[in-house]
Amino acid sequence: MPCEVKPRFLVLYGSQKGQAQSIAEGIAEEAEEHGLAADLICLNQNDKYNLERENAPVVFVVSTTGDGEPPDNTLQFVRCIKKKTLSPDHYKHLCYALLALGDTNYANFCNCGKTIERRLQELGAKQFYPTGYADDGLGLEVVVDPWLEGLWSAIKEVLSKMASLLKENEENSATDIPDLSTPDVQLNALSITDQQNCEPVKPSLSSDSKYASPPAVLDLRPASLSGSAGLESRFTGGAAPKTQICNDELAASLTVSLPPLSESSLHVPALPPPYLDVFVQDVDSVEQTMGPLNQETFHEVPVSRAVQLSRGDSVRTALLVELDISAHPTMSYQPGDSFDVFCPNRAEEVDEMLCRLGLQDQKNHRVLITLRKDTKKKGAQLPSHIPPNVSLLSLLTWCLEIRSVPKKAFLRALVEHTADGAQRRRLQELCSKQGAADYNLHVRDPSLGVVELLAAFPSCSPPLSLLVEHLPKLQPRPYSAASSCLKHPGKLRFVFNVLELPACPGRPVGRRGLCTGWLFDLVHPCLALPGKLDSSGSMPLLKIPVSLRPNCSFRPPPDPSVPFIMVGPGTGVAPFIGFLQQREEERKETPEATFGETWLFFGCRHRDKDYLFREELKDLVSGGTLTHLKVCFSRDDRGGEEAVTSAAQPRYVQHNLLLNSQQVMDILFRRNGSVYVCGDAKNMAKDVNGTLVEMIKEELHVDQLEAMKKLAQLREEKRYLQDIWA
Ligand code: FAD
Ligand code: NAP
Repeated sequence: MPCEVKPRFLVLYGSQKGQAQSIAEGIAEEAEEHGLAADLICLNQNDKYNLERENAPVVFVVSTTGDGEPPDNTLQFVRCIKKKTLSPDHYKHLCYALLALGDTNYANFCNCGKTIERRLQELGAKQFYPTGYADDGLGLEVVVDPWLEGLWSAIKEVLSKMASLLKENEENSATDIPDLSTPDVQLNALSITDQQNCEPVKPSLSSDSKYASPPAVLDLRPASLSGSAGLESRFTGGAAPKTQICNDELAASLTVSLPPLSESSLHVPALPPPYLDVFVQDVDSVEQTMGPLNQETFHEVPVSRAVQLSRGDSVRTALLVELDISAHPTMSYQPGDSFDVFCPNRAEEVDEMLCRLGLQDQKNHRVLITLRKDTKKKGAQLPSHIPPNVSLLSLLTWCLEIRSVPKKAFLRALVEHTADGAQRRRLQELCSKQGAADYNLHVRDPSLGVVELLAAFPSCSPPLSLLVEHLPKLQPRPYSAASSCLKHPGKLRFVFNVLELPACPGRPVGRRGLCTGWLFDLVHPCLALPGKLDSSGSMPLLKIPVSLRPNCSFRPPPDPSVPFIMVGPGTGVAPFIGFLQQREEERKETPEATFGETWLFFGCRHRDKDYLFREELKDLVSGGTLTHLKVCFSRDDRGGEEAVTSAAQPRYVQHNLLLNSQQVMDILFRRNGSVYVCGDAKNMAKDVNGTLVEMIKEELHVDQLEAMKKLAQLREEKRYLQDIWA
C-alpha cells in the first residue's frame, strides 16, 4: 500500500509562562485530525528549523512579557530578524500566520508578536491568515478560540495553493521554490486586525469544500435529557459540595448550570493526549531543606525587620520587610530594581492535594517522571522545572502552581477522571465554547485554584500525572526595592499589601494571596507597629529565598540636574522611596552638585490609616530632597461624593496631577524631565495615562491624536516610564 505523505506545516512558539507553548502544542496535536503533519519547535531551537529555506506554511504563537519584551526563549530570534542587513526579500518565500498573546493591562500590548509581524512583512513574508491578538486581561480564549477554529481552513487553502503552484512549476520545468509573491498566486491580502478592542478574530472560512471539516460538535447533553441521572441526582451522598443548591432555588454556580447551557450540545476542546508516566517510587527521596530550588539563582536571606505600615483597621494590611543581604554581594541592587521572592505552596493545600490523590502516606517518596513512549503529544518534553529525584512533597510544595486557575484543556482532561455523570457534564460545560461565560464567571474571575475546583467536584480523581502535565511552574513573585543600598548598606527593603481573595461559591472561605499570605504568616509574630520603622528590635531567625531581578530601565535620570515626577499610590510608592533615599545620600556626598527638583504624587485611602512612609516623606521634604509632595486621600470624609472629585479636594493621584498641570507639562516638555508611574496596572496606570493625554491637549493646545503621539514620544525617549502590575 502506498504510504500517504501528509501535507506539512511548521509551528514555532515563543513562551514565557507556557501559555503560548501549550496553544502551539494544541495546534500540532490537532493537525493530525485535519490530515496534516505539524513540526512543533520552540523559537530558540534554531538548529531544528531554517526559515531561510522553509517552504511550508509557518504558524507563530508568541507571547509578550514584562514591558513588551519577548519571552526569554524568543529574544535571540527577534534579535536575528531585526538585523538591518537583511534584504527586503529575505523571507519572500515564506507564508505565515501569527497568534500574539499579551495583556492590555500593560503598555506595549502584544509587542513581541507585533515586532515579529512587522519584520516578517518588511522582509517580504506573506500572511495567509489574519493575526490574532489575544488579551490575557480579558481572557485569551476570546480571541484564541475563534482564531484556532479558522486556522485549519486557512492552512489547507494555502497548502493547496502551494501544491498547485508547485505542480505548475514542475510542468514548466521550473526548479525554484514556489514564489508566492508572484501576482497570479498572490495570497489574499489579509488585513492585520489589531484586536486591542478584543473583538474576536473572524477568520474567513475557506470555500474549498474538499478541506472544510465541520467543527466537532459533540452531543454532550446532560444526563437528564438523555435519560440517566440529571440535576436532581447531582452530588448526592455524603460528599456533596458546600455549593450545592436545591432545585427549588436554582441558580447557576460553579457546579450547577441552567438552561439553555444545561440543555445545549457542547463544543469541547480535543482531549489533550497524556504524555508523562509519573511513578511514586517506594523509596524516600533525600533532599535539601529548600527542596528543588536552584541554590545558584536563589539566596536564602534573613529577615532583619518587619513593620506594619498600615493601621490595624485599614482596608488593606501593608507590611514592610527588611532583608539582610550583607552576606550576598550578588544581591547588590539599584533603586528601581525588583527582586523575586520564591514562596512555597501552603502546607494545608499541599496536604489537601495529597489526600485527594490518596498519596498522603507516600509524600516523602521519590517521584519518577518519564515520557510516555506511545504519546501522541507533539514535541513532548519532560517538565524542566521538576528536578530528578524530587519527593512528592517537594513536587507539590515547590514545583507546581497548585493555586493556578485551571485551564480549559485541564478541565477537559479532568472529565475523563470524573465518575459522577452530572459532575462530568458540568466540567464539560465549563471547558466548552458554549460555557465560556460560566467559565469566566465561576472559575477565571474569582481566580479559583485547582484545589478549590477539585473540592467542588468530589467524584473527580485525577492521577498525579495529570497534575504534572497540566499545572504550570510555581512562579516567584517580584517586589520593588523600597530602599537604597547607599542609605541602608547590606539591607533590602520591600513593601506589600496582603492580598485578600474574597469568598465565592467555589471558595467558601476567603483566602490570602499565596506569597503575601506566606510572608504575612512568617513575619506576623514579630511585627513592629506602625511608626517603628527604624526602631531596632530582636528578630528571630527567619529566612526567605530571593533572587535579584534588575530593571535597568526603571532608574532615576542619569543626570541628577534633570527634574523628575514620581506617581505611586499605595504600595506603588515603594521604588520611589528607594529613588529618594539614593538622592538624599548623593546630596550629602556631593553637596556642590546641581540636583533637579523632585515631585511625588502619592495617594491612599485615609490620612491616618494607610499613609505609607508618612514620617520619612515629611523628613525628605524638610531636608530638601523631595521638592514637592502631593498627597490625596480617596476615602477621607469630604462631605459627599461630589466634593471627593472636586478640583480642590483631589481623590486620586491623577486629580492632583491635573491640579499641577502647568508645572508637570513644563518639566516634561520644556525642561527635558521624566515621569515615573508605579503600582496598579488595571485602573490607576491607565487613568494616569489618560490624564497625561488630557493635560498635554490642554497645555500644549493639540488634539487627542497629537497628544497621544507626544506621550508615545516621551515613552520612546524613556522619559515616561512605568513599573506596573495587575
Ligand atoms: P497570588 O496568590 O499570586 O494571587 C494573585 C492573583 O489573584 C492574580 O492573578 C490576581 O488576578 C488575582 N486577584 C487579585 N485580587 C483578586 C480578587 N479580588 N478576586 C479574584 N482574584 C483576584 N506587589 C507589592 O505589593 N509590592 C511591590 O513592591 C510589588 N512589586 C512588583 C514589581 C513587579 C516588577 C511586579 C511584576 C509585581 C510587583 N508586585 C508588587 C506584585 C507582586 O509580585 C504579587 O503579584 C502580589 O504581591 C500578589 O502576590 P500573591 O502571591 O500574594 O498573590
Ligand atoms: P491600593 O492600596 O489598592 O490603592 C492605593 C490608592 O489608589 C487608594 O487610595 C485607592 O483608592 C486608589 N485608587 C483606586 N483606583 C484608582 C485609580 N483608578 N486611579 C488612581 N488611584 C486609584 O494600592 P496597592 O494595593 O498598594 O497597589 C496596587 C497594586 O500595585 C497591587 O496589585 C500591587 O501588587 C502593585 N504593585 C506593583 C509594583 C510594581 O509593579 N513595581 C509595585 C508596588 C505595587 P480607593 O480604593 O478608595 O478607590
